[in-house]
Amino acid sequence: FSSKFPSAETTIFSVMSALAQKHEAINLSQGFPNYPVDPRLIELVHKYMLAGKNQYAPMAGVPELNQRLAKKIDSLYGASYDPATEITITAGATEAIFSSIMAFVRPGDEVIVIEPAYDCYLPAIELAGAKGVPYALKAPDWAIDWEELGQLITEKTRMFIINSPHNPIGRCFREEDMQALTDLLAPTNIILLSDEVYEHIVFDGQKHLSALSYPALRDRTLATYSFGKTLHSTGWKMGYVVGAARLMREFRMVHQFNVFSANTAVQYAIAEYLEDPSTYLGLSAFFQAKRDLFLDLMKDTPFQFEPSGGSYFQLGDYSQISELNDVDFARWLTIEKGVAVIPLSPFYSQEQPDNKVVRFCFAKTEETLAAAARRLEGL
Ligand code: PMP
Ligand code: GLN
Repeated sequence: FSSKFPSAETTIFSVMSALAQKHEAINLSQGFPNYPVDPRLIELVHKYMLAGKNQYAPMAGVPELNQRLAKKIDSLYGASYDPATEITITAGATEAIFSSIMAFVRPGDEVIVIEPAYDCYLPAIELAGAKGVPYALKAPDWAIDWEELGQLITEKTRMFIINSPHNPIGRCFREEDMQALTDLLAPTNIILLSDEVYEHIVFDGQKHLSALSYPALRDRTLATYSFGKTLHSTGWKMGYVVGAARLMREFRMVHQFNVFSANTAVQYAIAEYLEDPSTYLGLSAFFQAKRDLFLDLMKDTPFQFEPSGGSYFQLGDYSQISELNDVDFARWLTIEKGVAVIPLSPFYSQEQPDNKVVRFCFAKTEETLAAAARRLEGL
């Protein structure tokens, strides 16, 4: 048979983590913490497993968790979402994004994507038979010209995907971005898919601006979230999606035949754990300290850094170190210097100017970050 999906390649996260393992490199590539999940959360999962919460959860989620999230959304974003009809618990944000795209995007449609883009958007768009329409951000300022971006809208545009805080750039939307976005979409029927997995990881006093908090966007927005990011538990593959009932109905039509429901005991555990808002409200400070430590440790290396504004990623410019393109440089750094990073070009669908930038994940222990910096000092 011929491949149904010939444009697909193995995700750069698998490629770089495998290369890191093969060469025993310190893995600052794929985004996941290398320190433990809060033992209290693990005890809660254990408690609910022992209590017999081991069979299918309701398709939309364990009601206790949906209700807890509705309260959180209300208190953080001043938005009222019905836990029964407007929030669905998913198998990670990846499933939330995939099911959202499958539910709304049809063959022949166009979907606007700001690039560099997290790598699961475009393949889902292509599997839906649609076309991704990229708007490419460029180093060093990664600025969005909203007027230029607006020119990409056609009568075929079904969806617009945004991601703030942004992976891999670490840029957070400001009020003027949200305003421009709202104005741009106002005369259209475009659905907004707002990937907010790093909602609790914003730095330097910025505030996360959720699409959920803009009433003008309510009717068109699906916002996706990841417990993997918020609870340092990427391996549990748990997330959720929030959106107006008319959108959520369609979303669930796909979700029910994709995974049906997500892990039951973990949902109960998270519902109880999130009763205490300090479990997520301290995250920005926690990761800002890691970002600052990382930048401090790396100051004697020839990398150049513009401090990340959010997410747990930091871009580094290597133009003083090498002439290699970013993919070759990332491989070289992994194999020869023992530190694995992520190149940016796989996050673009079209050939880009030679950015000479790679992404570091700083969701790591102090020892790991220090060991990586030591390996890079002599570059
Ligand atoms: N969106 C972005 C921007 C991400 O960085 C990630 C991965 N961490 C996801 C979605 C997927 O999240 P999850 O691991 O919950 O599937
Ligand atoms: N989101 C993580 C990253 O950006 C990776 C997730 C994955 O490997 N699919 O590194």
